[in-house]
Amino acid sequence: MAEARRRIAILGGGIAGLTAAYELTSPDQPNPPEVTVYQLGWRLGGKCTSGRDPSAGSRVQEHGLHVFFGFYDNAFAMLRDCYEQLDLSKDRYKTLWDALQPYDQITVMEEIGGKQVPWVINCPPLPGKPGDPHPPSIWSIVINVLKWLLRTHASIIDGLEGNQSPLQRIEGKLHRAVALAEGLGKVAVAHEKGDHEALAALIREAAEDLQERVSQVGVDDKLRRLLTLFDFVAANALGGLEDGFLFDPYRAGQRINGMEYRDWLSSHSILHLAEKSAVLRALYDLIFAYPGGDVNAKGDIAAGAMFLGLFQLWQYRGSVLWKMKTATGDIVAGPLYKLLLKRGVKFEFFSRVDRLMPSADGETIDSVTIGRQVTLTSGTYQPFIRVKDLDCWPAEPLYDQIDNGNLLKQQKVDLESPWLSWAHAPPPVTLKRGQDFDDVALAISVAALPPICGQLAKADPRWQRMMDEVQTVETMNVQLWFDRTLQDMGWGGKDGTLLGGYDVSQLDTWADISEVLPSEDWGANPPRNASILCGPMKGPAKPPLGDPTYPATALKAITAAAADFLQNHSAALWPALSQNGSFDWNALHAAPEIKGPDRLLAQYIRPNIAPSERYVMSCAGTIEARIRADDTGFANLTIAGDWIDNPQNLGSFEASVMSGKLASRALTGLPKEILRVDPKNPLLTPPTNWPPRFVEPLGNQTFPGRIDFKDVTLNSFWFEANYDKLAAICRTCFDEPSGGTVSCVPLSSWMMMSFADMGKGRFDSRPNMGWSAEKELAFWIFVGRKKAPDSDEIDEAFLFNPVLCLDNSVAMMDGREVFGFNKQRGWVDMTPRDAAAPSFRVDVFGATVDGPNVQWDRVPLLKLDGTSWLTAPGEILTDLAEVAAGLVREVPSLLPLRPGLPLLAEFLQALIDGTAPVLFLKQFRDIENQDLACYQAICTADSKITGFHGARLMKPGTLTISPVANLKIADAFGISPSTDTGIGVQLNIDMAFLPGRELWRAEPTK
Ligand SMILES: Cc1cc2nc3c(=O)[nH]c(=O)nc-3n(C[C@H](O)[C@H](O)[C@H](O)COP(=O)(O)OP(=O)(O)OC[C@H]3O[C@@H](n4cnc5c(N)ncnc54)[C@H](O)[C@@H]3O)c2cc1C
Repeated sequence: MAEARRRIAILGGGIAGLTAAYELTSPDQPNPPEVTVYQLGWRLGGKCTSGRDPSAGSRVQEHGLHVFFGFYDNAFAMLRDCYEQLDLSKDRYKTLWDALQPYDQITVMEEIGGKQVPWVINCPPLPGKPGDPHPPSIWSIVINVLKWLLRTHASIIDGLEGNQSPLQRIEGKLHRAVALAEGLGKVAVAHEKGDHEALAALIREAAEDLQERVSQVGVDDKLRRLLTLFDFVAANALGGLEDGFLFDPYRAGQRINGMEYRDWLSSHSILHLAEKSAVLRALYDLIFAYPGGDVNAKGDIAAGAMFLGLFQLWQYRGSVLWKMKTATGDIVAGPLYKLLLKRGVKFEFFSRVDRLMPSADGETIDSVTIGRQVTLTSGTYQPFIRVKDLDCWPAEPLYDQIDNGNLLKQQKVDLESPWLSWAHAPPPVTLKRGQDFDDVALAISVAALPPICGQLAKADPRWQRMMDEVQTVETMNVQLWFDRTLQDMGWGGKDGTLLGGYDVSQLDTWADISEVLPSEDWGANPPRNASILCGPMKGPAKPPLGDPTYPATALKAITAAAADFLQNHSAALWPALSQNGSFDWNALHAAPEIKGPDRLLAQYIRPNIAPSERYVMSCAGTIEARIRADDTGFANLTIAGDWIDNPQNLGSFEASVMSGKLASRALTGLPKEILRVDPKNPLLTPPTNWPPRFVEPLGNQTFPGRIDFKDVTLNSFWFEANYDKLAAICRTCFDEPSGGTVSCVPLSSWMMMSFADMGKGRFDSRPNMGWSAEKELAFWIFVGRKKAPDSDEIDEAFLFNPVLCLDNSVAMMDGREVFGFNKQRGWVDMTPRDAAAPSFRVDVFGATVDGPNVQWDRVPLLKLDGTSWLTAPGEILTDLAEVAAGLVREVPSLLPLRPGLPLLAEFLQALIDGTAPVLFLKQFRDIENQDLACYQAICTADSKITGFHGARLMKPGTLTISPVANLKIADAFGISPSTDTGIGVQLNIDMAFLPGRELWRAEPTK
């Protein structure tokens, strides 16, 4: 009999809930569950929902201004895929890109000499498109930031008069900072603390010198703005580096999320322009960062969350902003709904979640009470109306599908409002665990949870803390349609302007959204401009559910704020609409019989006051109160939404998408990847009991942390092996265990064999421990990780070390335990560094033949002789790039990596720069069944050359391999027992082995 499918109830159909449904029903799910979404009212999308009003040109009615930033990779990737999966041939927008309007400017309002003056910041498009695979790494963003500082400094120099020499010194420091950052490996967490400190010192000195220089001269507004941007970026870069954010994001995030962002920025700012700037105010405005809603109060954002958001914003792809060409809900939630329907997801509209009940033991969610809001005439609901070739969410329910629909309409019962109820609602239903659902994904926003989750808070106090501490704020939305173009209105800037920081009013953000007009249906005489004003609304910290007059009071307040804006503050934006100090009400699109200020009432004015409409804030000191999707305290409950602990922790579309992915991952283990987030993202608070601390037993001889080797002699020879045999080793070690997640091929049939005297090895984390020595033989294969098992494209190149024999058993244990080196006990004899004829011998622990009576002992494995120095006696090569060039010159076949690979240059450069990523299969045998592994992972770590003292080249030699029953290297590599090698090189270096990360780990399928 077929196994029953797991049933998952998603409560709330906002972006997070829809993303969870999208991931749970992804084709990647081996056993997709049955998913039902319960949503109050008639439409999906939550804070991003929208409605069309057929009585007013089917105009687009939003909850507020919605834009995507060009770094929303997860959101874009999901929507791109969604559009591709649907047949949109008859629709207005065939692809996501058709529906979006890229935009490359942000305007902020500044007060200069008592006047409000716009400041336009151009953000040129960057390569790629949001949602493309392989978003930029943290370190590439740092390098980009430093280059920007350098370029901006050049513009500052152009604007400054007088002595240029101090400025050239500053430029020199910034150049050094760029070079230093470029020289460090790509994985920021693997750098040395000192590297980041050195980088920060250079930026600090450059900014301090600049401060001194500009304090001696007059600065005009143009220069002040440049200096402000320089200060803003430099302060963030300094803060990120000095607070160890880029080095140890998790701990730094924990520390600085307790600080308010502006205070944190100020503590790192040198020119002290950034924290007072209009740019910063505009950013606070954009995310409604004012508890209690007062734009004149001090804003409040957790420093870590804001830093990370801005840091990612730095490397957007394509345009910095993507505006909507029509209603947000019709671009986002509409297509997602259609795709999910296709995948079999069930939608229960008009289903208000009233209560979650835990089981008696507090371990699981046992029941969910659903308040049914209406009875449907046919049992199901078709939610769309068609407007201009697009399926759209209507602004009101489709009453003809509802029993007593006319009455509902007449009584104006808003089914999204908790202040209103309807007498004809059918009785509630109770969903039961095991009968109606197995697991629950709660995707209702945090301010709506207290009445729903009171019982959860009793069972687990973290819930009470989260509901108390994660703050929300009401917002205002005023949409205006004008019978004038933007130019007629007197705005001097570009069409499509998005403007923030206009704090003369609570409506502090304005955007020209005229790009939506063609999607509306006005017939003759359509409006010429559509604009949106929004901002936080002054109001209570929690929804005043007990006050039935509240919705009317809120509407009155926002209408008054809109009238005040138009009458008293619109002239700075639209001077042509102010006549003799009075706003020209006739400019608003409305029926001719409506006169004067009443024309405002024909516009769309909306207070977002219902609990789940409130914007979720990220106030300092509150991030810790958030709960993770996989740590809710109830075995069958996960959570999704911009209010849960997620990699962004800001109220945004992208954060909601990430949270939905995390909810799906908590339930099924998939998706594995969240773009722009390291799989071991340290910003996600780990569950309190995971991972456990490593127990330091008495007399432990393996050690944590980075290993530093001083005075290493590394003699490396190349030889040609059998490509197919090397490919088979890759398959066995990577493709087969990971099921193709890490799929590798050799990049060459040439291998490297190194005889190393590792000099003095020390453990960074045990500075007082002294040192030890080791000699080793290592074989290296150059491998490339493929984009996918059936792809020819290579993503990354690594060194892979299938066998390593060494004479220090502690190093052997440490290498296996920490990284996954396949280390074997061996003995390596090497002639001294400067012997006239270098030769090498290696024995291993084992036996020459198999057999029950054979004693394992030290047996010969190989020798290499017949070589001599190629570099002239007494000559030493002192430049690593020169060594690489010398090698290639001597033996062109040393560039045997497959032709045409773009990575080849990158990989060689990494080696020359001194960093080489190494790949490992790390595993431990299971205790019960020793043919199985109880831990198995594919890991990578960088080996880094920290000092280079010289090199010499060696002539080819002969490698002679002896039979060893337990280490058949000639067979494994497909070489003859007597093989001529290629050229050799002896490097005299210092090196380090850095902490690494897992690329894949074996986990039971859920
Ligand atoms: C005015 C405004 C403007 C914004 N602008 C932007 C922007 O430009 N860019 C950006 O990135 N982000 C913006 N955001 C933030 C973004 O909209 C949110 O972060 C995101 O939509 C939150 O999605 P969610 O799924 O986490 O929550 P929600 O959208 O709150 O979803 C919760 C869902 O649960 C439903 N629900 C609530 N109560 C119940 C119940 N009892 N029973 C059943 N269902 C229920 C709701 O109707 C909703 O569908 C803006 C937010 C606001 C308020």
